[in-house]
Amino acid sequence: MILPDATLGVLGGGQLGRMFVQAARSIGYRVWVLDADPHSPAGSIADRHLVAPYTEAAALREMSSHCAAITTEFENVPAETLAFLEARVPVRPGSSAVAIARDRIQEKTFIRGLGLATAPFVAVCTSEDLAQACTRIKLPALLKTAQLGYDGKGQFLIESAADALRGFHQLREAACILEERVELQQELSVILARSVDGSMAVYPVGENVHVDGVLDTTSVPARIPPAIAQQAVQMAQSLAVALDYCGVLAVEFFLTRSGELLINEMAPRPHNSGHYTLDACVTSQFEQQVRTLCGLPPGATTLLSPAVMVNLLGDLWRGNAPPWQRLFQHPGAKLHLYGKRQARQGRKMGHYTCLAAQLDDAAAMAEEIRGALLGDA
Ligand code: AMP
Repeated sequence: MILPDATLGVLGGGQLGRMFVQAARSIGYRVWVLDADPHSPAGSIADRHLVAPYTEAAALREMSSHCAAITTEFENVPAETLAFLEARVPVRPGSSAVAIARDRIQEKTFIRGLGLATAPFVAVCTSEDLAQACTRIKLPALLKTAQLGYDGKGQFLIESAADALRGFHQLREAACILEERVELQQELSVILARSVDGSMAVYPVGENVHVDGVLDTTSVPARIPPAIAQQAVQMAQSLAVALDYCGVLAVEFFLTRSGELLINEMAPRPHNSGHYTLDACVTSQFEQQVRTLCGLPPGATTLLSPAVMVNLLGDLWRGNAPPWQRLFQHPGAKLHLYGKRQARQGRKMGHYTCLAAQLDDAAAMAEEIRGALLGDA
């Protein structure tokens, strides 16, 4: 076990890294952050910020010689970086799980190999594959890049073979998947923490609403039948066991109109849809990341209150900061800002979580605050 006062490392200095730093430091660990941006949200509150790219050997050597263990906030860290570090210091989650999660073809093939359901898809590496895929996948479908796609970026809606070809060219013919667009009833996620010894703690299922491919709200507990919740938890757990996973794992699901539960994707790290755990659970997902990294058992995932989390995107700033005083009028609302200097359109600047004894009341509070921040009456 790695105990407080030790130094931990995190690759990536965004908001997820920042919340990891906050959780680790509040327990008494020191944290080093590696991120090339001198103003990164996590770097600015770390004990040490190595301002360097993920590929810089000197920075990696320094990090591995000072940190007792290293984690990542970002699955697109180069594989060589993880391999370099893993040879010197515990890296959790390990590079093999991260490699699967970062590539949609590997990820969905792995999930299907376990007998778990995904939306029908075909891997596309060449224009011949694409032509074949258009005959095998029901249109309309989505063409998604295998790598580096997030928040709906790197995706095209495909209604014809001609659309598919256009999309493939726009994606510079990078490896893709063509995936059937399923009729969504709800989107759900399961977040769990798994320790080195295999002990697991699972959060209640969250119900997610995306707007333009980006998470807008998470409501917990999800308004779904208990059997669906149980099935989602079991699917996430079997994925974690099959990956021999150590760390925090987020699994996103589609619940289709016909009642089928499909895995959409997984993230080998804390997830935006788990931010509510900061205010609504005994242990936050970031504390779980610290615990699993340090070889400690996971903390309790008990939900203390129904909660609705709302993302705050840069669009809300419109030159000035939103009128936060309107949010603070609600005693059950908790604001989290990530310390980003510039509010750009679509940029995740922060979130707030509304807590109430009934989920409907938390949802009403969340919408009232949204309107107030937008400047509505
Ligand atoms: P992704 O980046 O793959 O998670 O996609 C972002 C969002 O686009 C999802 O959360 C869904 O709202 C929507 N989406 C993605 N794939 C599909 C699909 N196969 N069918 C229906 N909606 C989808």
